[in-house]
Amino acid sequence: MPGDIPGIHHVTAIAADPRRNLAFYTETLGLRLVKRSVNQDDVDTYHLFYGDRAGSPGTSMTFFPYPEARPGQVGSGQVATTQFTIPADAVDYWTDRLESAGVDVEDRTERFGDTVIAFEDPDGLPLELVATADAPEGQPPDGPVPEEHAIRGFFGVTLLLSRASGTTSLLETMGFESAGTDGDRERFASHGDLGAVVDVVEDQTAPAGTPGAGTVHHVAFQVTAEEQADWRSVLQDQGLRPTEIIDRKWFSSVYTRTAGGVLFEFATLEPGYTVDEDLAELGESLVLPEWLEDRREEIEAALPELSVPASEH
Ligand code: ZN
Repeated sequence: MPGDIPGIHHVTAIAADPRRNLAFYTETLGLRLVKRSVNQDDVDTYHLFYGDRAGSPGTSMTFFPYPEARPGQVGSGQVATTQFTIPADAVDYWTDRLESAGVDVEDRTERFGDTVIAFEDPDGLPLELVATADAPEGQPPDGPVPEEHAIRGFFGVTLLLSRASGTTSLLETMGFESAGTDGDRERFASHGDLGAVVDVVEDQTAPAGTPGAGTVHHVAFQVTAEEQADWRSVLQDQGLRPTEIIDRKWFSSVYTRTAGGVLFEFATLEPGYTVDEDLAELGESLVLPEWLEDRREEIEAALPELSVPASEH
């Protein structure tokens, strides 16, 4: 049996306009573009990765921006909200920052003792900032947000499920223990500094989510390369149908659809985003896995132009 999973590796969602997506996550939220590549399963589409200064595991929010994407509908069988950690005293800063950027911010709420700020990205993707006294110092990016207020990485995700039991027992197998309830949500927590929380809301009447812009495609959890095959066996033993191990260049991945319908990925910490770019230059140019390099000209011609802010690192 492999060891407990510390937390989330990355979250991948669908967007429409790549330029609007880039502007929001880098300029408004102050994350760093740490990797600019293509969707390996659909190479006419970008795959954009945002994170902290180093693209550390537990910080990277990634997008497939399809310019023609139709809006999806968040519903059961999906990650309903993606949560980022901010320091406890950064609530006023972020409320002001988001409002002055024209973002519609909901009234702040308290959840498990933390203040939560809820809003949506330009595609309608539900996001939350969770202000917690436990926020790690982390490696905030150099950017428009002062370091003391910066997003540290993921706090967690909320899963909306019509039937929770199959997914919650899998989470427990993965090392996420029940940590109590608040209203209609049950919290499952692991031991990592970032992305160690999965909240589960069970709602048998919620309509099933439909994929599209403004919805999460999958959530990935951190595993070590040594234990990845063991995790694949654990998933098979639970009656799930995991994929083979797939080489994604910056990590390798196993995917499985959970009983509740959410797509989980088990992604390795190794080798990371600096395997093909220097830390100082992350995200500045289009990088491709070797098996796509001979198609670079054709791929670049099909992608919309993106002006990536010059590095301040
Ligand atoms: Zn992924």
